[in-house]
Amino acid sequence: EKLVLNGTLIDRGEASVDIEDRGYQFGDGIYEVVRVYGGRLFTSEMHLKRLYQSAEKLSLHIPYTMEQLTAQLEALVAANRLDTGIVYLQFTRGVAKRKHHFPETSETTFVAYTSEMERPLEKMRKGVKAVLAEDIRWLRCDIKSLNLLGNVLAKQKAVENGAYEAIQHRGETVTEGSSSNVFIVKDGVLLTHPATNLILNGITRQVVFGICGKEGIPFREEPFTVADLRAADEVLMTSTTSEIMPIVDIDGKPVADGTPGAITLKLQQAFDREIHALSAA
Ligand code: PMP
Repeated sequence: EKLVLNGTLIDRGEASVDIEDRGYQFGDGIYEVVRVYGGRLFTSEMHLKRLYQSAEKLSLHIPYTMEQLTAQLEALVAANRLDTGIVYLQFTRGVAKRKHHFPETSETTFVAYTSEMERPLEKMRKGVKAVLAEDIRWLRCDIKSLNLLGNVLAKQKAVENGAYEAIQHRGETVTEGSSSNVFIVKDGVLLTHPATNLILNGITRQVVFGICGKEGIPFREEPFTVADLRAADEVLMTSTTSEIMPIVDIDGKPVADGTPGAITLKLQQAFDREIHALSAA
C-alpha cells in the first residue's frame, strides 16, 4: 500500500507526522475526498477546484498545479490498484514552532492515500435513519477545513441513536448533514440550503443540480425549516461516499410513508448513469 507524501510515492508504513505540524496541533489545513469508480477519479476537477478555493480562503499555498495534483492522485490509484474506493488528500500549513499566527516560513505538508470503499447500494435502496442536531459549528462552513469537531459531535449523536446521519439546523433553519448536504422534496420541487458560509458546497450537491437540469426536475437553493423537513414528501442527503441517500426516518418518525421517494429514485438512476459513463469513457 502506497501513499503520497509531499509529492513522493512511498510505502504507507514509512510516513510519519511531525508533532509540530500545524494540521496536528491546530487543525490548520484543508482536505478533499474524491471517489474512485472502476479505477478512475470521479469529478476530480470539481473537487480540486474546491480545494484551491479552500486554500485561498485560508491563505494556504498549494505548491502544485491542478494538472500536477491530478497526475499524483492518478499515479497513487494505479500504484494501489484501487478499483472502488476513495482518495483522501490534505494540505496543512506545515511544521513550525507552536504559535497561533501563521509562521513566516513553513512548507505545506501534503498527504494523499487511498481506501477501498464499496458503494452503499443496500442503504441507497432502503433509505437510512437520521437525527436532528443543533448546528454549533463556526461561520465558515464553506471551507473544507480539518477542523471537524462540530461535525464529529453531530455524527456521534447519530451513531448513539442508531442513525446514519445527523441533520444540523441553526435554530429553525436546516443547514446540512454532519458530512453531507440535505435536500427535501415538497410538491415536486427539490429544495436545499443555498451555498453560503453556513454549508459546504458539496460536489455531489452540484452534480444533483446538473441532473435536475437534464431531467427537468425543478429545484431551488432556498433555506427551509425543521417543520418543512418533518412535513416533506421526500428527504435525501448527498455526499461523495454516500452518493444520493434517501432519509426515511427522522428522530424515530417516518418521512412521508417511510420509503424512498420517486424523485430520489430518479436522481439515483441518473447518478448511476454518470458513474457508468465514466468507465465507458
Ligand atoms: N457537507 C459537509 C459538512 C461534508 O463534510 C460533506 C462531505 N465532504 C458534504 C457536505 C458533501 O460534500 P461532497 O458531495 O463534496 O462530498
